[in-house]
Amino acid sequence: MTAIATDSNISRQSPLSVDRFCSVARTVEILSDAWMFLVLRESFFGARRFEHFQSRLQLPRNTLVIRLNKLTELGLMVKVGYSAGLTRFEYRLSDQGRDLYPTMLALMQFGDRWLSGNEPPPLQLVHKVCEKESSAQVACSGCHASIDPHDVQYRSGPGAGMQARDLDRKRSRRASDPEVLERVRPCSVARTLQIIGDRWSFLLIREMFFGVRRFDAFQENIGIATNILTDRLQRLTGHGIIHKQAYQSRPERFEYRFTPKGHDLYGPMIVMMRWGDKWLSDGKPPLLLRHTQCQQDFYAQVVCSECSQELFAGEMGYRLRYDLTVE
Ligand SMILES: [Zn+2]
Ligand SMILES: [Zn+2]
Repeated sequence: MTAIATDSNISRQSPLSVDRFCSVARTVEILSDAWMFLVLRESFFGARRFEHFQSRLQLPRNTLVIRLNKLTELGLMVKVGYSAGLTRFEYRLSDQGRDLYPTMLALMQFGDRWLSGNEPPPLQLVHKVCEKESSAQVACSGCHASIDPHDVQYRSGPGAGMQARDLDRKRSRRASDPEVLERVRPCSVARTLQIIGDRWSFLLIREMFFGVRRFDAFQENIGIATNILTDRLQRLTGHGIIHKQAYQSRPERFEYRFTPKGHDLYGPMIVMMRWGDKWLSDGKPPLLLRHTQCQQDFYAQVVCSECSQELFAGEMGYRLRYDLTVE
């Protein structure tokens, strides 16, 4: 079921070259740059012009220029002239960028469920098709039932064993302070990214969904330094995503298991994987998923909790539960 790159030198050098679920890693690389994420989020809220992004996000001009250029370069946005002489531009989502919407919804659903404390979620979705207050659910594209990780089998796809696209190595550290993510708008997606948006935390969670539980095995599989591994395991434990459990008493040894909250990250993970497979794997997904309930290969779809139809950005309304500080 695993699909690790066979060249061990590659997997030593870079965790992203380990070819499991690597489509998800690619997606997280993009979303975990806090500023890029915020610009994308505002696009989903309808922002298009430079001044709109700037006033909504209150970012330094240069920071915004860099992120808009990067998003355009990555193919997530397109720059379109709109004035008579085409001297003024707006930034619109490309098909690829718009297709990140289900990922946003899946991350939002997790944040609403686990990270809103006793408050109601900051933003209530309304599905215009069924006209009901809706939440996102991750479902099987074959039978439309919601997905439980225990009902999924894996096998290598046509892209297995290929080296992941070379991502920007300089961004191995967090691009910005995690608190930046909640600027202006309280946001369940941002809260979720504060937990999984860090590359190492994300890779650990991914390994755990493949059944890896022990310190040595994490080290072996993702080539992580001992001190970083210790730190990330503590952080994930602190966030209530995993817990430590003894599996041997003399000498005492531990392994890590998901809490119900951690287990619930599975939906967002397979939705991100779908996006990476569709847009970043040249039509060759590294990993194929099979739903044991319906015995079909599937990809993750995000559907309405009320009517089970697939959710699209254009068909969603919002009810905000907070005041926008800037307009
Ligand atoms: Zn199914
Ligand atoms: Zn609906």
